[in-house]
Amino acid sequence: MGFTTPFTLVYASPGKGACLYKAPRGTADILPAEQGYFRYIEERAADICQRYGYERIDTPVFEDARLFIRTIGPGTDIVKKETYSFEDRSGQGMTLCPEGTAPICRAYLEHGMYNLPQPVRLYYFAAIFRYERPQKGRYRQHQQFGVEALGEGDPALDAEVIEMAWRFFKSLGLRKLSMQVNSIGCRLCRPAYLERLKGYYSQHINQLCPECKARFRKNPLRLLDCKKPSCQDVAAAAPKSVEHLCPECREHFRSVGRYLRLLKVPFKKNHRLVRGLDYYTRTVFEVQPQGEEGAQSALGGGGRYDDLIEEMGGKPTPAIGFAVGMERIVLNLKEQGITPPAPEAQAIFVAYVGDEAKAEAIKLAAELRRAGILVYWSFGSKSLKAQMRQANVLGAEYTFIFGEDEVKNGTVVYRDMVEGEQWEVEVGEVVALLTQV
Ligand code: AMP
Repeated sequence: MGFTTPFTLVYASPGKGACLYKAPRGTADILPAEQGYFRYIEERAADICQRYGYERIDTPVFEDARLFIRTIGPGTDIVKKETYSFEDRSGQGMTLCPEGTAPICRAYLEHGMYNLPQPVRLYYFAAIFRYERPQKGRYRQHQQFGVEALGEGDPALDAEVIEMAWRFFKSLGLRKLSMQVNSIGCRLCRPAYLERLKGYYSQHINQLCPECKARFRKNPLRLLDCKKPSCQDVAAAAPKSVEHLCPECREHFRSVGRYLRLLKVPFKKNHRLVRGLDYYTRTVFEVQPQGEEGAQSALGGGGRYDDLIEEMGGKPTPAIGFAVGMERIVLNLKEQGITPPAPEAQAIFVAYVGDEAKAEAIKLAAELRRAGILVYWSFGSKSLKAQMRQANVLGAEYTFIFGEDEVKNGTVVYRDMVEGEQWEVEVGEVVALLTQV
């Protein structure tokens, strides 16, 4: 199928070794040297999920654009400025996922998961796309690990989910973290609180940054978490949502605190903690590096979204979840000198001199790999010296060397790369020799 490109490719003359293209701004390649960090986080995440009874779900990388506009909120920064949206070839509006919760709720409804025992507990790893101003820890594509527990409103679930997030970070070995918790009320008590908040801010409007002036009209709750110093001063004395909760929300928040103490999760109430998306209700929380609370450095966060599923067409279904940013965790692991355990794989190198020996080397390499062993060998016709150098660079523990004599005798030279000793062994014995050790 032919298609036309919407832009003209410019073939510059690159310097030697230079590439014509770069990864898009705000995105990064995760090179092999970094992969260990990501696998480490994924393993810890899967392990914690297994203990709390969460099952993995994968949803598409893009969704119907309306899903996000409706759920995240048309007035939020994410929807207004940050989505990667496009029309597909049939003219349908699509958006690359800017967050993980709405797709899970969509899947929950689409697959009738409300018929399962509640809460339904799901977890995911997802690529998240937001057109943000790139900086350290803030990218246009990042990876999130997230969990959602759908169909239960008990504050004990809030505490369990917060505890789970806390234990996850602890299991990574991260120190100096702070768990911040707040309640932003429900659709009954929040409107009156927002009026109070606006009333307060209307007296300080001249002290606010230009963005906050816009927030004042469109998304007043977000005034509280502006990072600009002058706005922070105003926010410090702003009315607190927890002081304007309806009796049910107040009791719910009190219970969350009680359960968290029971579960021995150290937490701080932070009345300025709100979240970037419109759908949150009641409990919200964030994990931040200590000393950087309030900076744009949260490692993860989440909260309740008791109205979201109903807004998407389902029955009233309380739910709660959290998501963590994997790149930010990697940054923090590195800053704290935590390196993921290296995989223990015994590496073998198979070397050869001459074409017939090469055929034997290829056969032995394949046989060893079938036996589960990591095998390297070199292509082309390098000298034995060059092959041994390569074996050293690759960290091979043993090298098997085929020469003309070995091919004739059905043997191979077995060299211990650490001790520098070597023996001649029957080719047929090699697998047994390595798998017995
Ligand atoms: P959010 O969906 O905004 O609550 O994000 C959840 C977590 O994802 C945050 O706490 C961050 O750790 C991470 N995160 C959010 N946005 C970005 C971004 N642009 N780049 C890297 N990590 C991010």
